[in-house]
Amino acid sequence: MTDYDLKPCYFEGKFIPLKDANLNIRTHALQYGTACFGGIRGYWNENKQNLFLFRIEDHYKRLKQSAKILQMQTNYSIEEYKDITLQLLQKGHWKENVYLRPFLYKSALELSPRLHNVQDSFALYAIPLGDYLDTQKGLKVCVSSWIRISDNQIPTRAKANGGYINSALAKSEALQNGYEEAIFLDSHGNVSEGSAENLFLVRDGVLITPDVSSSILEGITRRSLLQLAKDFQIPIEVRPVDRTELYVADEAFFAGTGVQVAWIREIDHRIIGNGKIGTITKKLQDTFFEIVTGENDAYSHWITPVY
Ligand code: PMP
Repeated sequence: MTDYDLKPCYFEGKFIPLKDANLNIRTHALQYGTACFGGIRGYWNENKQNLFLFRIEDHYKRLKQSAKILQMQTNYSIEEYKDITLQLLQKGHWKENVYLRPFLYKSALELSPRLHNVQDSFALYAIPLGDYLDTQKGLKVCVSSWIRISDNQIPTRAKANGGYINSALAKSEALQNGYEEAIFLDSHGNVSEGSAENLFLVRDGVLITPDVSSSILEGITRRSLLQLAKDFQIPIEVRPVDRTELYVADEAFFAGTGVQVAWIREIDHRIIGNGKIGTITKKLQDTFFEIVTGENDAYSHWITPVY
């Protein structure tokens, strides 16, 4: 058994060691994918001896919205979720970069793939996490042959566990074909997002990202970067994006909690811009890392210290 197995998680209303948080094989969420989740990062700042959580209230607000779509009861308020999260990190003495996985799942042990009147539960655990994708070297990506699920199929707005089959299909296809990540098109043929991250382009100094009707998750990093761009007076367009706009973009990057801000070097064998990180991408990336690590006072309202 490792130290990690003994770290506390939150399960069935209590803090217990991770090794003891196990589910019955009959669990509804396991059988039907009826769960929704969040992903929150904490950044350890060695100088300040503190762990900073990025936009925790916004993450729990989105979890509650996902739960509403999936007809789940969320017994806790955002403040209570936040309190459980801080306690979990403090009890676990987390002093490194961490990724938190809160989720609500249909915990009843019954058959029938429905949403209403199925009991659900909340659980939370933490894992140590460095970079999910390389943020510095420039990613090689492809447009997926898999189409993004649409709002009337499995709503991407809901961050529903079952919907991540769609992401997994695209991600495996991309990796097995020698790329690092996939970009989805939506059912109308417009650009949607990556398998687990939102997408941005820059064309002629304008920051462009697909609108919320392009089957995207309404990403908190996406929203933060749009706010930063506004504050930096970078022109923004939030609108449907064509596939070939990807190829002629001057800059392209992914944004999300896991991926952070990671620039794209190549899409479908077309080099983006001059094949180097673009100036707008660099400025947003640098500012993003300053903020999340607790080194930018102008945006300190976006971070919560754990200690
Ligand atoms: N899209 C998808 C499909 C995701 O899984 C994620 C990661 N949560 C994102 C976008 C980015 O969202 P956020 O910035 O809130 O992490």
